[in-house]
Amino acid sequence: MKSKLVIGNWKMNQSFEQAEDLTTAIEDALEDFNLSTEVVLCPPFPYLELVTDHADDGAHFYAGAQNCSQFTNGAFTGEISAEMLVSLGVEFCIVGHSERRKYFGETNAVIAEKVNRLVEQQLIPVVCCGETLEQRQNNQQFTVVEEQISETLFHLPKEKIEHVVIAYEPVWAIGTGETATPAQAEEMHSFIRSLVEKKYGTETAYNTYIIYGGSCNAKNAVELFAQENVDGGLIGGASLRADEFVQIVESAETSVSEN
Ligand code: PEP
Repeated sequence: MKSKLVIGNWKMNQSFEQAEDLTTAIEDALEDFNLSTEVVLCPPFPYLELVTDHADDGAHFYAGAQNCSQFTNGAFTGEISAEMLVSLGVEFCIVGHSERRKYFGETNAVIAEKVNRLVEQQLIPVVCCGETLEQRQNNQQFTVVEEQISETLFHLPKEKIEHVVIAYEPVWAIGTGETATPAQAEEMHSFIRSLVEKKYGTETAYNTYIIYGGSCNAKNAVELFAQENVDGGLIGGASLRADEFVQIVESAETSVSEN
């Protein structure tokens, strides 16, 4: 069975000092385990080097960014390119988070360009998808997620898609304390895997990581991660508390050893 992947998304939180303490606390706690779970911390841009410094020390611990520019380099004031991230030692980058779609008007077309910039630099895109509450109430969740995935990812060739992480994050569960039930998560993850399988074949579908995000915490992680098609989690609020984040990583570890 493949190892799980747990990604912490700190969003726009923490001072430099807090970020330093959080990184150290998580790394120290994880050092005590012989982990198979891959752990990625995604701090705000100015703190990335804190994490890459720690990431150098050990396996299974990586730095990720929360966003990147759809452009390569040049006169784009305020933007951060994929190439810059690579030069810092970053290995993962979240794109298409629902907060970026909502507050910064990111469309599937823009997200597809960001995916391209990341793939060109051999960075691993963590591509978010997920329906709003209204879409779920209208039973449109599968159509919406299929459109998001096909328009942001399915232009990639087979050899690239395995190096992409898909994060299913129902918008109604992000930061709300309301989590998808394990059955709802499994239903959508198995649907997403079937889309990848139809397009790229069974082996690629198996190898592609599909992780869950949306109010995942130390209490519900065990059951979510135990689902056959849930390969780990994208953790927002709970990743800002070292103890809780480490417990979530432990749940990922347990779910692999119990399967
Ligand atoms: C997220 O922002 O990706 C997320 C899953 O947030 P939270 O865990 O706080 O719902």
